[in-house]
Amino acid sequence: MRLTSPSLLALCLATGLMALSGCSSKKDAAHGDAHGGGHGGEHGEVVPATLHHWSYGGKDGPDHWAELGGDNSVCKSGHRQSPIDIAGITKQRSARVVFDYQPSAATIQNNGHTIQVALTDAGGITVDGVPYKLKQFHFHSPSEHAINGHRAVLETHFVHENAKGDLLVIGVLSDIGAADPMLGSLWTYLPTEAGKPVPLADLLINPQDLMPATEDFYVYSGSLTTPPCKEGVTWMVYSSPLSVSVEQADAFERLVGPNSRPIQARNERDFLHVTGS
Ligand SMILES: [Zn+2]
Repeated sequence: MRLTSPSLLALCLATGLMALSGCSSKKDAAHGDAHGGGHGGEHGEVVPATLHHWSYGGKDGPDHWAELGGDNSVCKSGHRQSPIDIAGITKQRSARVVFDYQPSAATIQNNGHTIQVALTDAGGITVDGVPYKLKQFHFHSPSEHAINGHRAVLETHFVHENAKGDLLVIGVLSDIGAADPMLGSLWTYLPTEAGKPVPLADLLINPQDLMPATEDFYVYSGSLTTPPCKEGVTWMVYSSPLSVSVEQADAFERLVGPNSRPIQARNERDFLHVTGS
């Protein structure tokens, strides 16, 4: 629990992030992406067969996502896209963030773009009194965000949504090192083929077990990193990485990797270095 001030929302106001929509309440922008944004890929649910195919390379790769039609044009025209390289000096502030996760039943799915774990009731976080419920988490290899130019071997995205439909995604980077015990348990359930979600029969997931013990983040306003690349997503990227073993990283990459969008232009955006108390 962190109870210092100024609050995160106050930070947004103070720094203009609200104008960049990360702290706004753009219901429309956030709607559906955490739970069924059609061909929303790793941020969505099962991909309807009628929607366009996309991938991480070739003619369906990131350079062509905007050509998928519909709302996907923002993948190219947007100015607040993710991921970014979080680099340079920025202001450091405290924030009032309360973590309230709990062990939850879950399903695991290979959706063709990533491995996604959907949680029944894992709790969430509260930012300045606004509760965000954790919907699902999933993985990218290599990491999508970079910190000071460094991309890690793996990045986990914890997708949260508030009552207005605004999305907040927590990013955790992992470098090669010691094996991650929780990931070790989870990886025994890795679906080798793309398909529907499968219940994790004998495993409760506490998302806190897959996050660093620190309370130190970079916060900025960005977008989904998969089509339709919708903006208005608040990103909280842990400043320090976790570790995974070579075997754990390889097991994921063999199934679905590489599955990372290239670094996007930062444009006029600032980021904040936010610490808990
Ligand atoms: Zn993601």
